[in-house]
Amino acid sequence: MTFSPVQDRAFLDTMIDRGAVFYLSHSGGKDSQAMYAILCRIIPHRQVCVVHADLGKIEWTGVQDHIRATITHPLNVVRAGKTFFEMVRHRNRTRPDVPPWPSSATRQCTSDLKRGPIQKFIRHDMKARGAKLAVNVTGIRWAEGPARAKRKPVTVNATLSKAGREVYDYMPILALSEAEVFQTIATVGQKPFHAYSRNKRLSCVFCIMGCENDLAHGADQRPDLYREYLDLEDETGWTMFNGQSLRERIEGVRSNQEQAA
Ligand code: SF4
Repeated sequence: MTFSPVQDRAFLDTMIDRGAVFYLSHSGGKDSQAMYAILCRIIPHRQVCVVHADLGKIEWTGVQDHIRATITHPLNVVRAGKTFFEMVRHRNRTRPDVPPWPSSATRQCTSDLKRGPIQKFIRHDMKARGAKLAVNVTGIRWAEGPARAKRKPVTVNATLSKAGREVYDYMPILALSEAEVFQTIATVGQKPFHAYSRNKRLSCVFCIMGCENDLAHGADQRPDLYREYLDLEDETGWTMFNGQSLRERIEGVRSNQEQAA
C-alpha cells in the first residue's frame, strides 16, 4: 500500500523548508495515529512536537501509554486548570437556568479542556525554542460529520498569530476514509487502541456526542465512572443529553442486546 497523499502538500513543503515547528495534537484515536504515521514520513523528526490534552479520569485508561508506544517523539501532556466535572458544576452554579452539560453546539469541553491548553503549550514552547513559525496539526476528517465536512485544510490561527508569531492550523488527512485510516495504521505495523474492538470512535469514555454503542461500551468498562456521570445528572438536575439521560441511552442499547441474544 502507498500512503494516502496529504492535503495541501505545497503548504506542507513550504512550512518544512521555512523551518516551522509542527505541533501534532494526538488524542490516542485512530485518526491521530494515522496522521502521525503519515506526517513522520514527510516532516524531519526535529521539526515535530507531539501534544496530548489529558482529560484525567474521563479519558480511556491506557490511552497515553498507547500514544507513547506508537510514536518516536517525546509526548508532551497538557492539562486544563479544571476538570470536565468541575466545568459542568461551575456552569450549573453560575447559570442554573440553562443546561450545564456541553453539547455539539456549545463544545466548551473541547475549547476549554483541549484546544485552550494545547494553544497555551504552543505559545510557551515556541517562546522556549525562540520559534516564530509553527503549524498546529489535527487529524480531523471530512467524513466524520457535516460540521467537519466544511473544514479547510489550512487556515491562519488568529489566536496564536500575535507578538511576532506566525501560526497556521493544518488538517492533513481531511480526505481519508475510515478504511484508509485503519489501513495506514496496519501498514506501519501498528494496531489501533484496544477500545476500537467495540467502539466506533475514541473520545472521552462518555462523550457528549457519543453514539449509544460507544456509551454502552464505556459503561461496561468503567461502571464507576458511569455512576459518577449519573450522580452529576442528579446533582445538577439536568440530563447529559438534551432531554435524555445517559442512563436512558445506555439502557436502550442493553435491552436491545438482551432481546437479540
Ligand atoms: S471527546 Fe466529547 S466529551 Fe470529550 S472533550 Fe471531546 S467533545 Fe467533549
